[in-house]
Amino acid sequence: MKFFVNSGCIGCGLCAGACPEVFEMTDEGLAKAIEDEVDGALLESALDAQSGCPVSAIEAQ
Ligand code: SF4
Repeated sequence: MKFFVNSGCIGCGLCAGACPEVFEMTDEGLAKAIEDEVDGALLESALDAQSGCPVSAIEAQ
């Protein structure tokens, strides 16, 4: 599964705190997801971060 942060991100930092292996904050103060495929133990953590986003700005495919 791959993750994307859409333009709805408000830069709260929750996703990067919950799953720093997949999400990081950019210099612009918004979140960005790694481009790699996410699977295994990391997937659960990334999905938790996705569901924790207060504005549902994290998309996955
Ligand atoms: S949790 Fe959502 S709003 Fe907060 S930084 Fe991550 S993508 Fe942006």
